[in-house]
Amino acid sequence: MRIGLASSIFAAVLVTAGAPLATSACAQTPSGASAVETTFQAILANPRVIKTLEDIKADDDTALAEQKRITEIPAPPYKETVRAEYYLKRFQELGLKDASIDTEGNVVGLRKGSGGGRPKLVVSAHLDTVFPEGTDVSVKEKDGVILAPGIGDDSRGLAALLSLIKSINANEIATVGDVMFVGTVGEEELGNLRGVKALFRDHADIDGFISIDGLGITRVVNQATGSHRYEMIFKGPGGHSFQEFGLPSAIHAMGRAIAKISDLQTPAEPKTTFTVGTVSGGTSVNAIAGDARMAVDMRSNSTEELLKLEARLLDLVKEAVVEENARWNSDKITVEIKLIGDRPAGMVAMDSPIVQATQRAVSVITRGPRVTFAGSSTDSNLAMSLGIPAVTIGGGGDGGNWHSRNEWYKPVDAYFGPQNALFTILMLTGLDGVTKPALAVRQGK
Ligand SMILES: [Zn+2]
Repeated sequence: MRIGLASSIFAAVLVTAGAPLATSACAQTPSGASAVETTFQAILANPRVIKTLEDIKADDDTALAEQKRITEIPAPPYKETVRAEYYLKRFQELGLKDASIDTEGNVVGLRKGSGGGRPKLVVSAHLDTVFPEGTDVSVKEKDGVILAPGIGDDSRGLAALLSLIKSINANEIATVGDVMFVGTVGEEELGNLRGVKALFRDHADIDGFISIDGLGITRVVNQATGSHRYEMIFKGPGGHSFQEFGLPSAIHAMGRAIAKISDLQTPAEPKTTFTVGTVSGGTSVNAIAGDARMAVDMRSNSTEELLKLEARLLDLVKEAVVEENARWNSDKITVEIKLIGDRPAGMVAMDSPIVQATQRAVSVITRGPRVTFAGSSTDSNLAMSLGIPAVTIGGGGDGGNWHSRNEWYKPVDAYFGPQNALFTILMLTGLDGVTKPALAVRQGK
């Protein structure tokens, strides 16, 4: 064994984990933490895995170059095709020969295991960015900091995935379960998770889901913040403010609605929030407004609370219209309510194998046990809402100014991202001839 990162990781774990090494797959119908512990030790001791970890580290510069290349291919919402075609080509070049682009635009490459197709684990990163067509996406560098819109979110995840695929194929890592690698479309706001929605519609046999999105590996997302967003368009007759005084006003109706919404009470736990984010309307200071519109955002970590809030808020808006009409003895004010954003909520239990596996992987890679679990809105939302075990993990490195043109990235320990993903995947899918999958096959699917 060469003395390198992997072997020192190996030594560190012997100290921190304090558990004896398992050398064979002797777990019986493993589940939860104990199953993960058994498989973890055996995977850690496997020479092929150790070599793969070293290769991932050695691939660090290449992965960074790839990250920059991907960033410079624009991928606005609903216009991810050019980037998807490039990503497909890379999948194929790295050994996923049968990879293809599905009907929604996702790049999908299946890497078969020895277990007849199950469990099936999706490992993904998202192709789309928030930036509209025409945004300058050229990569700039200043004092070791890399600047470009989308350089981290999610070019890092996409590059980490490629580095991982390259290294596991080069080392002929054989899993028990299947791994489906996916570059998804439509993760960002406007896309409303259309990529993963299609993926889960087309593949009923997915048993687990990992999204590589975000950077630092010590933050793991196991809660999906759901959101519902509405545009509400108030319409009325409009008229002169003096001559036609007595007509109802679209702006006044909307004002009534906003006042009611402002007084809503929501629970702190599970965190549930609302805001009227934007308003517009009217034509002139001396006109009774004939139109007004607002956009409302509601979020919660619980689907039940989200739906409760939504029902109450929509009722309040309708009440506001009734009151404005009643005030002027009219029936002219109407409101059109349009759903413009829909992301489901969900949560994965701390003792589920996917969370346990991630926690184990992070502690071995960083040599520390610290993992922060968080709620966020990512591609994992959909899996979690369907009750499918899922986590969102970091691609490695450091960065900030998300969703802004000043987004920056620093490749600090960037290879931790794909290394962490490797460990997590192998614990879940099982290493052929060495461990059994910790990820359970979903019954009846
Ligand atoms: Zn993202």
